[in-house]
Amino acid sequence: MNNTKKIAIIGGGLTGLTTAYYLKKSGFDIHVFERNNRVGGVIKTNQKKGFTFESGPNTGVLSQPEAVELIEDLKDDCHLEIADDAAKARWIWKAGKWESLPSGLVGGITTPLFTFSDKLRLLGEPFRKKGSNPNESLADLVLRRMGKSFLDYAVDPFILGIYSGDPKKLITKYALPKLYNLEQNYGSFIKGSIKKARIPKTEREKKATREIFSVSGGLENLIKALEKNIGSENITLNCKDLSVQKETEKTYKIGNENFDYVVSTTGAYSLDKIFSFADPEKLKHIGKLVYAKVIQVSLGFNNWKGIPLKAFGGLVPSKENRDVLGILFLSSFLKNKAPENGVLLSVFLGGVRHPEIVGLSDREIEFIVKREVSEMMGLTEFNPDMMEIFRYQHAIPQYGIESEEKLNSIELLEKEHPGIILAGNIRDGIGMADRIKQGKTIAEQIQSKN
Ligand SMILES: Cc1cc2nc3c(=O)[nH]c(=O)nc-3n(C[C@H](O)[C@H](O)[C@H](O)COP(=O)(O)OP(=O)(O)OC[C@H]3O[C@@H](n4cnc5c(N)ncnc54)[C@H](O)[C@@H]3O)c2cc1C
Repeated sequence: MNNTKKIAIIGGGLTGLTTAYYLKKSGFDIHVFERNNRVGGVIKTNQKKGFTFESGPNTGVLSQPEAVELIEDLKDDCHLEIADDAAKARWIWKAGKWESLPSGLVGGITTPLFTFSDKLRLLGEPFRKKGSNPNESLADLVLRRMGKSFLDYAVDPFILGIYSGDPKKLITKYALPKLYNLEQNYGSFIKGSIKKARIPKTEREKKATREIFSVSGGLENLIKALEKNIGSENITLNCKDLSVQKETEKTYKIGNENFDYVVSTTGAYSLDKIFSFADPEKLKHIGKLVYAKVIQVSLGFNNWKGIPLKAFGGLVPSKENRDVLGILFLSSFLKNKAPENGVLLSVFLGGVRHPEIVGLSDREIEFIVKREVSEMMGLTEFNPDMMEIFRYQHAIPQYGIESEEKLNSIELLEKEHPGIILAGNIRDGIGMADRIKQGKTIAEQIQSKN
């Protein structure tokens, strides 16, 4: 199966590699242009002193069938790892200790996380009027339907865990479209969840679950599998200052090569340099996208002397005014992350409320981590056998109030310049499963037109 159309993919992260993999599988002539000296983007698995740890994402949720299908398609080269049941428990920090996030009715009634009046108020959620503002913030939506303690001790920490963000600044329709649609389509979260659970699912829909996943040996093995199948001859690394020229009405040039399609998967902040022929006003709207700055600190302990860690991790609501966003207990639910009896943790700092933390020195960060982890994890001595700090200036895009204008600008630019596709996590979701879905969908759309 050969297709004469030539396609450039800018950015060799998960989105770009997934797009390239499926296009190549459909017989297209593809080429990936990557700025760094390696592919994978923010996904990178590291090994040190017997610990295997990620510097970018640690796990994903199998929330889209495309994520399951990609790993199935790559089964000769990498294997899905589903987290142990321990990952089903989530902890929330409140008033100096961890509380379990309730998952059932009894836990929901007895939990000290939410106030009695909000618990009572929740009974009225199915009868509340649905919202009419498509640009309503997540905080306003939750206050309207559920109450302040649910915002402070469930939604805020959940948003810290996903977006390192602020529910007041995220627009539900774009940041959590499934939640937005639940209210819009069914009038209520509770009614909607019950009714949706009753709708029979197709075999394909059943592939999407809430399971937490990684890949055996680390997420970089997914990247290596994609790279192998794309072929290193189809990837150019170290592309500094890449720029696309418009050659004819429908063809584009990168270096000396002509392309019928150019799929960009880079951050919003790179687009004006890459597409200098495009309308700067529209690019400016896309460039307004805000990114959370995040620090991830990987900690390895050979002999753990802290509290038992039978959970996915703990999240720290903003209201608690601590210097960490959350801690993942990776060795509690993934295999071979630490030596026997050892523990691997990932600590997150920064986020949209504390961007200044990313500018601190390693010593200052170590000081904060020592103080916070010792207290929260019940350690009398803080002596990790492995500690690595990773900084991200553009970790997670925040789908805020600029979203509508940003998406309109993307649509208009793609219309003005047929063959240009502006993708990546500037739109369609930030999770790994969303990235895979977008990559596969773009490949299918190009295939259907050719
Ligand atoms: C610290 C951290 C933790 C995260 N945790 C999770 C998690 O737990 N679960 C989850 O599902 N998701 C998580 N995410 C999000 C998820 O990792 C990303 O959304 C996803 O990996 C992004 O993939 P991508 O290919 O779209 O972008 P990227 O990985 O950013 O790849 C973009 C690529 O484009 C390249 N590039 C940029 N500019 C240019 C240019 N001018 N020319 C050529 N190439 C260029 C970059 O070098 C990079 O390789 C996390 C992200 C971070 C940073």
